Amino acid sequence: MLIDSHCHLDRLKAAPDRASLALLLDAAKQRGVDYFLCVNVRQQGFEQMCQQVEGFDNVFLSCGVHPLDVKDGLDIHTMRPNALLPRVVAIGETGLDYFYADETKLLQQQCFEQQVALAVDVNKPLIVHTRDARQDTLAILRQGHADKVGGVLHCFTEDWEMAKAAIDLGFYISVSGIVTFKNGGDLRTVIRKVPKDRLLVETDSPYLAPVPHRGQENQPAFVRDVAEFVAELRGEAYEELAANTSANFFKLFPQAAELIGKN
Ligand SMILES: [Zn+2]
Ligand SMILES: [Zn+2]
Repeated sequence: MLIDSHCHLDRLKAAPDRASLALLLDAAKQRGVDYFLCVNVRQQGFEQMCQQVEGFDNVFLSCGVHPLDVKDGLDIHTMRPNALLPRVVAIGETGLDYFYADETKLLQQQCFEQQVALAVDVNKPLIVHTRDARQDTLAILRQGHADKVGGVLHCFTEDWEMAKAAIDLGFYISVSGIVTFKNGGDLRTVIRKVPKDRLLVETDSPYLAPVPHRGQENQPAFVRDVAEFVAELRGEAYEELAANTSANFFKLFPQAAELIGKN
């Protein structure tokens, strides 16, 4: 079993309707990918995302506002009931991205702080996006007591110090297709060092298709390529990596385990 711990199923050009989404998830299943965490990025898009994946029992959800979507607004009071839904297993993606949007820094920080507080309040883990904002990301997580709920630094591209600090806070490190890219040498060094019990894999589809699918739209089935690459990189058997990352997923998101009767 393999799990795509982070994808945006409502944003796939290849899956504009339920029938095509069913085909895509089926293609993933053919490659051993059984479960998917469909991650919300805009508050206004939450309802529609829910509708698109309704009835797919192997899809879990999150709710949150992405740091690059903060201008669309965050109303934490109307987000709370969504956060409490049984199928919503995490809060996010939230975080800070100073690389692409340095000018919205302050707003990003406010939205991030609010979502950390919400996660602690509803006792659900955080899905964190962080780029070029190491110190501020860690400071907000620490000040907000995010260690109480834990979470994941998704699509990890930072250095070992950042990984280590996050792991010490009880967070997991999720690896995307970026690790397969030609210029991913530094990242590969970091990913080799992440403890087995803190590693997750993801596609972040429709973005960031891994080698050998560069140039195509990414899709959940391709998490298999990421996982095979990471297993080889770490000198582990693929089956071992698949089993470990799946176990880690259900440990981090216990509500997902409950939903499928694993607990
Ligand atoms: Zn992200
Ligand atoms: Zn994402």
